[in-house]
Formats: sequence, C-alpha cells, structure tokens
Amino acid sequence: MMRVGVVGAGMIGRDHVRRLTSVISGVTVTAVADVDTGAAARVAATTGAAVHPDGLAVVAAEDVDAVVVCSWGDTHETYVLAAVTAGKPVFCEKPLATSPEACLRIVEAEVAHGRRLVQVGYMRRYDTAYRALKNVLDSGTIGAPLMMHCAHRNAGVPAFYQPENTITDTAVHEIDMVRWMFGTEITAVRVLRPRPSRNAGGITDPVLLVLELANEMLVDVEISVNARYGYDIRGEILCENGTVALADQNPITVRREGHLTSPVPADWRERFSAAYDVELREWAAAAVPDGPSAWDGYAAAVVSDAAVQSLRSEERVEITLANRPELYDPTSGDLD
Ligand code: NAP
Repeated sequence: MMRVGVVGAGMIGRDHVRRLTSVISGVTVTAVADVDTGAAARVAATTGAAVHPDGLAVVAAEDVDAVVVCSWGDTHETYVLAAVTAGKPVFCEKPLATSPEACLRIVEAEVAHGRRLVQVGYMRRYDTAYRALKNVLDSGTIGAPLMMHCAHRNAGVPAFYQPENTITDTAVHEIDMVRWMFGTEITAVRVLRPRPSRNAGGITDPVLLVLELANEMLVDVEISVNARYGYDIRGEILCENGTVALADQNPITVRREGHLTSPVPADWRERFSAAYDVELREWAAAAVPDGPSAWDGYAAAVVSDAAVQSLRSEERVEITLANRPELYDPTSGDLD
C-alpha cells in the first residue's frame, strides 16, 4: 500500500484525495496540510489522515512514501524540492513552478538525485481522445503532420483570473499537449488579438497563439475564456494524407421540438475527470514516474513566459531551452 501525503486541500486537492482513496487501489492518504487548517482537517477527516502544520511536515512525515502537491503554484517549488531531497516521488499539479528558473532548480535537483521522482499534472496526455489522436498520428497511416488547429473554450473564469492567465493557466495545457503529441520542442510563439469579446470583462479575450515547432509544423490555438455556452476542447491535425480530429465527446443526442442537440460539458472537471483518474492511477502504479517530467514542466514554463511576453508586445518571441539533461532523454533510462 503506497502511503501518500497531500499538500493543499483546495478544489483539486480535495478531488485528488477522493480519487486516491475511492477510485484508485493500492493507495492510502496518510497526511494532509493546507494553510487553511480547517480545510485540511475536513479533507483529512474523510480518509483518517493526520493533519500536519505545513507542507514541509507532510513531505518529512515517516508514514508518507510519496507526495501530491495541490497548493497554489508559487508554493510548488518548495515542496517539490523538499520531496526530491527526501528521495520521495512527488506528483505536482501544474505548474511545476512559476518561473523557468525555479523549474530548472527542480530539474537540477532531480538530476543530482540521479533518477526521476517528479511528475507534473498535465492530464491531457491521459485523455482517451488525445491518446487515440496520437495513436493514429504515430501509426503513420495519414503521413507526416503539417499543422494542428486547437480551440480551448471556457464558459467563464473565476474573478481572480488575470489577463496573463489565458496563457499560464489555460493555453499551458495545449503547450504541454503539443510537445507530447509531436515529440518536438516549440521554437517560437506569437499571440494575436482578434476582435475582443464583450463578455471578456477586462481580460484580452479571445487570443490566438501561433506556435512554431522545431519540425517546421505550425500549431494555432484559440483561447476563449468567456465563451458562455460551455467547456469545449477541440483539436484537428492536418497530415500529408489525411486529418485526425477530436470528436465531440457526448454519449447522447436529444431530439426535441424540431431540434437535435447534444450537451456540452460545463467545465474541465466534467470533460477531463476520467483523464485525472488514469493519470493518478498510472502514477501510483509506476515504480519510476513516466508521465510529464520536471523537464516538461520547465519547457512549459519557458514557452508560457514567451507567450506572456508576446501577449503584451504582440511580437513573435523566439524560445531557447537549456540543454536537456540525459535523464530526460526519452531513449535513455535512469542514470543509475
Ligand atoms: P485552490 O482551490 O485555491 O486550492 C489551493 C489550496 O492550497 C488552497 O486551499 C490554498 O489555501 C492552499 N495553499 C496555498 N498555499 C499553501 C501552502 N503554502 N501550503 C499548503 N497549502 C497551501 O486552487 P486549486 O484550483 O485547487 O488549484 C491548486 C493547483 O492545482 C494550482 O497549481 C492549479 O494550477 C492546479 N490545478 C490544475 C488543474 C489541472 O487541470 N491539471 C486544474 C485545477 C487546478 P488558501 O486558499 O487559504 O490560500
């Protein structure tokens, strides 16, 4: 039985505790902390876990074999570094950390440790539809990919959402997905601003990202965070001999009063709940984490930074990554 400590008992922390204890087998949650100790106590009470005074105490606890970090993004570096130093596997919700420099510190700590301990919560890689898309692409049956068109639409966003969150919270999922889907790095980004929506309320919305890939592909990503009608994730890849696209996810259609309709998911929880289940199940089952790595978290942070810069300047921004350590070479195993 793997004993997991959870740092952060907010929205996703609560949901991951439920998932770890009720959906996945072979895992028990033994420790919880949150700056709001009442929130930690409420979550802990659902599992019989101990409440700790802070996240570092969770990482250090003797009855914690592995850590799940679900606190606010700017606290992630501290807890992930502590887990790596303690030699404990750590699943960290995105972002890995809030700057490329902080992500690199985690990469360096993990490389010094000599084997992978860190996984970042980019859950699209675990979604059935995205995996099916990648299977068709990798089969080679429709030839080499040339372009991808993506749309990421939210019905609305919370009051604390800032203009750059269209990139750092929203487009970052496509940024990670694209690197994984095509197995190549993003080399430049440009963020364009179409006609602003009157639903936007102070946010630059919608925006259109144009990502340039090292393999010469172009990927466009429409981000629209006040789309009102629901949560809608779209993607179509143009290849040399055909296309492959995410299909509508609905299991039903309704015929009523002269109309044929299908429901649209309300939000990301509804659309990706099965992907979160698979993500944490595979993480708990893996001897060495093999999902999105600290390097992937670093690369997403660098591309996000460049896109935020482009959102402000409306200029094309080139992207340069540090040298990738051998630990993250997909063809090599651990260093030890
Ligand atoms: P949330 O509901 O605000 O939860 C964050 C919790 O962490 C809050 O209870 C917060 O307390 C607590 N916290 C803040 N600083 C802490 C610290 N130093 N130690 C321990 N706990 C601390 O936010 P959320 O929506 O769950 O998001 C949490 C993280 O998950 C974010 O990084 C977010 O980007 C990520 N996330 C990922 C996905 C995904 O699709 N993969 C979806 C949602 C969220 P206070 O509220 O008192 O500050």
